[in-house]
Amino acid sequence: MKVLVIGANGNVGRKVVPILHECGHEAKAMIRDETQKENLDPRAEVVVADLEKDFGHALEGCDAVIFTAGSGAHTGPDKTELVDRRGAMKAIDEAKKHGVHKFLMVSSMNADTPENGPEHMRHYYKAKGDADDYLRASGLDYTIVRPGRLSHAPGTGKIEAAVKIADRSRKRDIPREDVARVMVHALKHDPLGERVFEILSGDTPVDKALEAL
Ligand code: NAP
Repeated sequence: MKVLVIGANGNVGRKVVPILHECGHEAKAMIRDETQKENLDPRAEVVVADLEKDFGHALEGCDAVIFTAGSGAHTGPDKTELVDRRGAMKAIDEAKKHGVHKFLMVSSMNADTPENGPEHMRHYYKAKGDADDYLRASGLDYTIVRPGRLSHAPGTGKIEAAVKIADRSRKRDIPREDVARVMVHALKHDPLGERVFEILSGDTPVDKALEAL
């Protein structure tokens, strides 16, 4: 499958690209700046595009999208609106327009319950949740993965996955590498039993955890 990775230069995105190739897919990496190419797995095809501009050309020839872009913690609510909400919604529209039927979203825990998050994060959670709702209503074949806090620790390949994870202790997080692995493995579990689920580090190998959903 040829998979467009939106946010390919990000901390999760850079890990998604090589895992796609390991698993027999082709990655098309959407980056904002040509110079970011050197950060990427050289096997990836690269397309320069920005979610805040016209980026429809990026989807041409693709079979699926993994959306892992994000406005990041160092920007204001204006970018949350432009990237996390509107950018994601535009990507869903462009997928439909270009006949890309499969769309996998890196969402976030609390996207469905922004009021449960700390006040300064609620706008972000609401934007992620609105994009998720838009995807669910799109008619596309979708998977929405909601990780808890992301870490830079090396991946373990083991996770907990559930529609709602009961133990939401603040001490629990998940390495970005494991999120990347979940996104790529979700491509082959078609369809997953649950299309919207949460993930944290755990004791179950990614494949088994997804099969059990
Ligand atoms: P990251 O390292 O900040 O990467 C985000 C990527 O999005 C960057 O490559 C950035 O491009 C790209 N981006 C930003 N604005 C864009 C635009 N206008 N057009 C195109 N691309 C744009 O984030 P991460 O750590 O990989 O996180 C990945 C995902 O996990 C995000 O969707 C985030 O919301 C979600 N998430 C994060 C947490 C957490 O604890 N941080 C928890 C749950 C979910 P540049 O490289 O050019 O800046």
